[in-house]
Amino acid sequence: MNKHTTRRNFLSTLGLTVAGTAAMARQPSTFHNSENDPKLHSAPTDIRITAVKTFKLGRAIITKLETNIGVSGWGESSPNSRRIVEAFIHDKLKKVVIGQDPFNVEPLWDQLFWGEHDLGPSGALPYSIAGIDLAMWDIKGKILDQPVYRLLGGQYRNEILAYGGIPLRGGKIPVEEAIERALKLVDFGFRVIKLRMQIREYNLDPIPDPTLKYYTAVRKALPDDVELFVDPNEGYTAARAIQIGKELQQMGMKYYESPCPLENHRDTAEVVRALEIPVMAGEKCYTRWQVRDLILEANPDIIQPDLIKAGGITEVKKIAALGQTFFKTLAPHNTKPTLGTAAALHLMASISNAGPFLEYVELDTYQDVLSVFDTLIEFREGKLQVPETPGLGLVINEKKLEKLAE
Ligand SMILES: [Mg+2]
Repeated sequence: MNKHTTRRNFLSTLGLTVAGTAAMARQPSTFHNSENDPKLHSAPTDIRITAVKTFKLGRAIITKLETNIGVSGWGESSPNSRRIVEAFIHDKLKKVVIGQDPFNVEPLWDQLFWGEHDLGPSGALPYSIAGIDLAMWDIKGKILDQPVYRLLGGQYRNEILAYGGIPLRGGKIPVEEAIERALKLVDFGFRVIKLRMQIREYNLDPIPDPTLKYYTAVRKALPDDVELFVDPNEGYTAARAIQIGKELQQMGMKYYESPCPLENHRDTAEVVRALEIPVMAGEKCYTRWQVRDLILEANPDIIQPDLIKAGGITEVKKIAALGQTFFKTLAPHNTKPTLGTAAALHLMASISNAGPFLEYVELDTYQDVLSVFDTLIEFREGKLQVPETPGLGLVINEKKLEKLAE
């Protein structure tokens, strides 16, 4: 089955064809730049968002946008606080979104962000916007019968190397357990693994420092061709980060993530200058302006915006352009296995500065969320396959979702 056939069948499962969606639109008309594609001649232009729904399930909060032509889109926000995101969407954003054209991603993003800017430009606002933004891109792709990466600029690649992480709670996890979890990730198929030290929750620059102990033990247990790197989760001052980073570099580590707090870019800049290996940072930089400051002040080699935190595809596409401007690559932070991962894959497929890999998860802990999807992202030989079906490329079993959602 070729890509085209797959997409047509996908639309059939929705009970729609592009011509069919046009028939349902109130004032069907044509796009002006589509002379060579008869399908696009019949794509509708008078499309309105008619409903915004949210679903909390397991470690996910999913947003659904419905339209007047029967096409729905699905998005996801970071679930760090699902109730806060849900309240933000329903109390503040929904009234702005209803009645809007889902193709108006840029004007709507501005209305949502600047309209509620006083409530905090970081955290809950860009998380909530992300859920809506992803759903709008999903709708656009479904109506145009195209995977989102094609709407973002085209395709540089069709698969992305993924890495799995092991949380170590500042050193409170037994080394044997860390080794066991690392080997489980290898069995699952990961070729790159990260040790998440989670130091800062316990103490900045802990004494004794746990990082080298874990790195040495896990490195020894892993096959030679599996990469291992460390994320101190912003737990170091510059001096400690450089001291540990140089030892890890000496032991063959190839990447060093978030060594110092984002509240102190000057320390990260010192680490970047002191080490030869690439330094990654920026998972909590939520908008283009925070990433601008990160680049200008900390100068990391690789930036890590999270699409379901940083304001969605629309905002992270701008962050990618900022990265291109300063010759930085993007390795998005990503902790959710379905819509958030799909969004990151479409973006990474479509940019010239995709980083070496994308974060991914152990699927065991997301079985409830995964169970409501009729299609999932393919993970093959350590790589995530960029979805080829229309929109974000995932099909949700809505009846099941409604039944299981809290
Ligand atoms: Mg991190």
